[in-house]
Amino acid sequence: MHKNKGKLIVFSAPSGSGKTTIVHHLLKQKALHLDFSISATSRERRGKEIDGEDYHFITLEDFKNQINKGEFIEWEEVYQNNFYGTLKSEVERIWANGKHAIFDIDVIGGMRIKRKFPEQTLAVFVQPPSIEEMEKRLRNRQTDTEEKIKERVAKAEREFKFAKDFDVILVNDNLETAKKEAEILVGGFIKK
Ligand code: 5GP
Repeated sequence: MHKNKGKLIVFSAPSGSGKTTIVHHLLKQKALHLDFSISATSRERRGKEIDGEDYHFITLEDFKNQINKGEFIEWEEVYQNNFYGTLKSEVERIWANGKHAIFDIDVIGGMRIKRKFPEQTLAVFVQPPSIEEMEKRLRNRQTDTEEKIKERVAKAEREFKFAKDFDVILVNDNLETAKKEAEILVGGFIKK
């Protein structure tokens, strides 16, 4: 894998922090030349998600085969039997198109990417104002069962501890402000 092409912009956060909305906003800013790194996952499709756009939805068996073939930059069993990972081919594709790769990925995965490409990566931790607010957002989304929400909240509590290891903490208590701040941060980083 080439290590001297393009940048990696990592947005990590507990789910319900608003990071996906921020990432989508950044992707609309043509001047930033970003392309979304589509992760592979073994979890079921949710709501309006599209295969090959939101994720590459693959079977657990295919996922494990690709791990064995060394096709991932990083992968993780984020929830039990639900694997998620970043394919090398995905980042290669983005860089080959002259773009920077932007990631919507969990905290552990985000840290792994930062460690693999320390100079080329901007790692941003998106922090919801509080766990209570995050739980409220997950409920409003109405896409998860009560059990899933509880699982996500527990994971978030663990993930908050990693915030300090990121390059930047972006507190999302006002979405419009957070979007603007993200634009400035990324714009500054890709000019370096
Ligand atoms: P969701 O099921 O809500 O789409 O995602 C669950 C968690 O997995 C989120 O925190 C999401 O950011 C994370 N995730 C998505 N793609 C990847 C990936 O490629 N690698 C890792 N480690 N986590 C990911």
